Amino acid sequence: MNAEIITVGTELLLGQILDTNSVYIGKTLAEAGIDLFYKTSVGDNVPRLKSAIEAACARAEIVIITGGLGPTVDDITREAIAEVTGKALVLDASLLKQIKSFFEKRNLLMTESNQVQAYLPEGAGIIENKNGTAPGFIMAHSGNTIIAMPGVPHEMHAMMENSVMPYLYEKMGGTVFSIKSKTLHIGGMSESAVNNKIEDLFINSKNPSIGILAHWTHIDLRLTVKTDSQKNADKVLNELKEKIYERLGGNIFGEDEETIELAVSKLLMAKHLTLSTAESCTAGLLSYKLTNMAGASGFFMGGVSVYSNEIKTSILGVNEKVISEFGAVSAETAGEMATKCREKFKTDIGVAITGIAGPEGGTQSKPVGLVYVALDIKGKVQFFENRFGTGREIVRSRAAQVALFKLYTALKNS
Ligand code: AMP
Ligand code: MG
Repeated sequence: MNAEIITVGTELLLGQILDTNSVYIGKTLAEAGIDLFYKTSVGDNVPRLKSAIEAACARAEIVIITGGLGPTVDDITREAIAEVTGKALVLDASLLKQIKSFFEKRNLLMTESNQVQAYLPEGAGIIENKNGTAPGFIMAHSGNTIIAMPGVPHEMHAMMENSVMPYLYEKMGGTVFSIKSKTLHIGGMSESAVNNKIEDLFINSKNPSIGILAHWTHIDLRLTVKTDSQKNADKVLNELKEKIYERLGGNIFGEDEETIELAVSKLLMAKHLTLSTAESCTAGLLSYKLTNMAGASGFFMGGVSVYSNEIKTSILGVNEKVISEFGAVSAETAGEMATKCREKFKTDIGVAITGIAGPEGGTQSKPVGLVYVALDIKGKVQFFENRFGTGREIVRSRAAQVALFKLYTALKNS
């Protein structure tokens, strides 16, 4: 079975909102083993939406449309589908009743224009919307199935899950292919270094396949397999995963939803260690990340944002002479910050970050993007010099990520 997605809304084309609906639908179809070869975004315009629907119907069996089912003049999906299929829009009395009761339950006034939402192309089946007033619908059209849902993401998600997917599964009958993916997160390596290590594993293989995705802060390897059974998919994925661990194990800090901060927090808790942070150029980003997870109070005692030199000295107790001799951005100052922080907060570990986020403030010897990370683990200090390039946001997020990755590596190997 194959499908296409059409997302409707001029705001999508103007770049005002991100088309997250097709991301969600694409993922959901992939999990069900339904092929998706095209997706289209169209503005709120009847002729253009009609031609997009016609083109999609010529290519794919199932055409899934989101958006444009609201009550306002720019909501034209109903009309466009009616015209393509040659069906009249007819009032569905039960739908009108549902919409009325939705407004009553929420104690809202139902306007005249909401009545429009009770009209469907003749012969269409209703997809119930429990979270809003715009219903969706499914209809057959010369060998195709057209499925329309409102654009509001959480309304559409519930309709996909409760109605559309059960409908498609039933339509597919016997063999349901399963597409499964696993993502491995890699730190401390460049995209090309990762590629060099594993290229031979996937260069001639489409199934399972491997995709490399570079983020500002780390690299993701996405392993995907398509087979006719869930068990088989798990087996193939696990075999491939093991091969990749053999080559990159030391750099893989997590899988799927696991972030570097989660990996670090698990190690800290398992080893019963406490942590504090002293941050200059990241000014709290590291402590923010560490406290994103529930249970952070089990290991994180606190952190200071010591931006100016004076505060580094007066609040944290960094030796003035170290700053004047080596500079605020130096391995020595980072080390002092980590140690003073560990002592002040009475923790097992102190982590410090000091660097030049830019765009100003760089020199020949200390360019923008130079960041020192220091770890003081029970009195043993380690420094790491990093050159993160330019872009204030990039430098800051990489600095926090590298501090976490260095900490992760140190904890794993200790
Ligand atoms: P509509 O059903 O066209 O009235 O859309 C309702 C709201 O849903 C819009 O204002 C958008 O905020 C949101 N929306 C519509 N289409 C999408 C999409 N493809 N991805 C994410 N949000 C969307
Ligand atoms: Mg719209």
